[in-house]
Amino acid sequence: MQAEDAPAGAPSPVTAECQFETIDCRGLPGFDGHELVVSCTDARVGLRAFIAIHNTSLGPALGGCRMWRYASDEEALTDALRLSQGMSYKHAVADTQQGGGKAVIMGDPRRDKSDALFQAFGRFVDRLGGQYVTAEDVGVSVDDMVSVRTQTNHVAGLPTSMGSSGDPSPVTAYGVYCGIQAAVAFKRGRPYNPRARLDDITVAVQGVGNVGYSLCRHLHDAGANLVVSDVHQSNVTRACTELSATSVAPEAIDDVHADVFAPCALGGSLNHQSAERLKSAIVAGAANNQLAEPAVAKTLTDRKIIYAPDYVINAGGIINISYEKRDYDLNQAMHHTERIGETLTEIFHCANTEDIPTAEVADRIAQQRLAATTA
Ligand code: NAD
Repeated sequence: MQAEDAPAGAPSPVTAECQFETIDCRGLPGFDGHELVVSCTDARVGLRAFIAIHNTSLGPALGGCRMWRYASDEEALTDALRLSQGMSYKHAVADTQQGGGKAVIMGDPRRDKSDALFQAFGRFVDRLGGQYVTAEDVGVSVDDMVSVRTQTNHVAGLPTSMGSSGDPSPVTAYGVYCGIQAAVAFKRGRPYNPRARLDDITVAVQGVGNVGYSLCRHLHDAGANLVVSDVHQSNVTRACTELSATSVAPEAIDDVHADVFAPCALGGSLNHQSAERLKSAIVAGAANNQLAEPAVAKTLTDRKIIYAPDYVINAGGIINISYEKRDYDLNQAMHHTERIGETLTEIFHCANTEDIPTAEVADRIAQQRLAATTA
């Protein structure tokens, strides 16, 4: 990230086809006192993007760039506002010394991508002079970020061959594994120990893609029993063959009698109905936005199910990326990631004492840390 030898791109000229404008978002859904929001248009390459910087009091904003088929500017802008606020909270709780920001590009990632589009995006990122550092997110690959890098130094999550931290999934998975260790220890009234054995624990893992499979490997090594589901049979077969997992159909995973339910597929997998049906005493997984709506956290609390807030437990990847700004060292990033278990233990205790959802405690910690720096 921010390597010194990178060729900074020439700024895009401001013409009718190419515009970079600050937007006043007060009153818009998702607005939360954001520091800066800009729209980026380069009609020559079909680029329409928004970059939202929520809060840089803890450090420069770091957050991925999402490419999605948004139906309107308003929908894209709202997503950028909400996602960037989420990044501020994630960084604050994970103690990365980074701020929250996010970019969204309007378009179909399977149809509308081009080198020129990501280079144009890179030129806009460069104009922000390092206030916002971009990376991959849904619909955007490492290769796309390599295109962005030709125009700006303010990119993270590039291949290790470029001196960057590479694929964040293994570190995300390790953080989720530490979070599961913390939740199991809390349930048993024991101190958190990331190296504890899990021989008598069954974990139901929904989605065994990049993070889910790597998580399964850690759990398997610690002796846990695995039940997995995935919509791609090859991923299921890999987990069953290599890690002695058993499998169930995707629609049956939340009915499995397990100690831990680990959602590692798409967001929104827990709604009121599935939370009522769940047979596990712990929910701890990698997926973003696991709760279909915030009120589901209360349903889990009422059922005495321990929920590891998603943005706390899945922070390993962003912690790893945040180490690029120092002399990148994987061991240090992994050590920092282990602290996710300590943070979650603190959250579980607070939620238990006050009888409130863990998600509420996590938000409060984030808000306090942000307020402390802006006071
Ligand atoms: P991935 O695409 O590699 O894996 C997701 C897996 O879920 C795929 O194998 C897919 O087939 C499967 N899946 C989709 N729908 C399913 C369903 N209904 N039931 C069962 N399986 C289903 O993605 P990933 O990088 O492993 O990320 C997993 C989740 O973790 C995502 O929600 C992502 O946003 C979140 N996350 C990832 C990272 C990271 O470092 N990759 C960091 C933070 C959060």
